[in-house]
Amino acid sequence: MCTFKIDGFILRTTLESDYSARIAFITRPIGRLNLIARRLKYPGNPVGPLMTFSLDRLLVRRIPDSAALRIEELEVIEAFPRLSEEYQRFVCGSYIAELLIRAIPERSPCPELYDLIGPALRCLSECRDPRSIAFAVELNILSALGYSPSFTRCVGCNAPLAEKGDYQFSIGAGGILCPECLKNERTGIAEADCFSLSAGAAAFARMSLCKRAEQLKGASVSKGLGRELFRLLRSYKAYHLQIESNSAELLGALVSRA
Ligand SMILES: [Zn+2]
Repeated sequence: MCTFKIDGFILRTTLESDYSARIAFITRPIGRLNLIARRLKYPGNPVGPLMTFSLDRLLVRRIPDSAALRIEELEVIEAFPRLSEEYQRFVCGSYIAELLIRAIPERSPCPELYDLIGPALRCLSECRDPRSIAFAVELNILSALGYSPSFTRCVGCNAPLAEKGDYQFSIGAGGILCPECLKNERTGIAEADCFSLSAGAAAFARMSLCKRAEQLKGASVSKGLGRELFRLLRSYKAYHLQIESNSAELLGALVSRA
C-alpha cells in the first residue's frame, strides 16, 4: 500500500526550511511515525496548517524506493492553540511531548501511552497551573511504562505507608521505604542513598496516579513542591529510563521562578 489515512497527534514540528518540515506523529495503531511535509508555503497546498499539539487525520504516502513517509493531506480534528501561544503551557507541553516521543517506539503500537495524550493536551490547555499537569502526566507516563515509583507501599516489604509523614525515597529501589526497612541492612539499601520526600509531594503523586487528567485542571503546586517534584522525576527518569530530556531545562527554570 503506497498511501493510507491515519489519525494521531503532531507532537513536534522541526522546520527544515520555509517549505519543508519533519513531524513526530503519534498514532494508536502503529506508534510513532516520523513524517516529512513538503511544499508548505505553496498556494493551495493541502498540508496545512501544520500545528504542533493537534489531533489530525493525515493522508500519508510512502515515498517509492524508500522507507520515508510524506504527508499528502491534513485535516485538523482538534487543535490546542494555547499550548503554542502561552509560554508556560508551551514549555509544559513540550516537556510532555518530548517524553512521549522518546517513550513511544517508531512504528510500534503503544496504546496505553497514546490514550494519555488527548486528555493531557486538553488539560494542559485549560488548567490553572500547567506545571502541576506536567508532573501529573509524567507520573502517569511512567506508570504506563511499568516504571511507576511507589508512593503508597514500602518498596522493601510492601507494607502500606502512613498517609502522612516525612518519607525516605530511594531512586534505585523505586519508591518510599518504611522506617523498618530503612533500618534493616538486609534490604541492601543504605540510608545514605535515600532522600527526604515531603508528605505534600507524596500526596500530589498519589492523587495524580489515581485521578483522570480532566479531574486535575484545578491542581496547583507551590514553588517548593514544584522544585521537589522536578528533582525527583528528573533523577528517577535518568536512573530507570536513561532519559535526560532537553526541555527539562526550560521546565526547571519555570519551576524555580514560580
Ligand atoms: Zn518496608
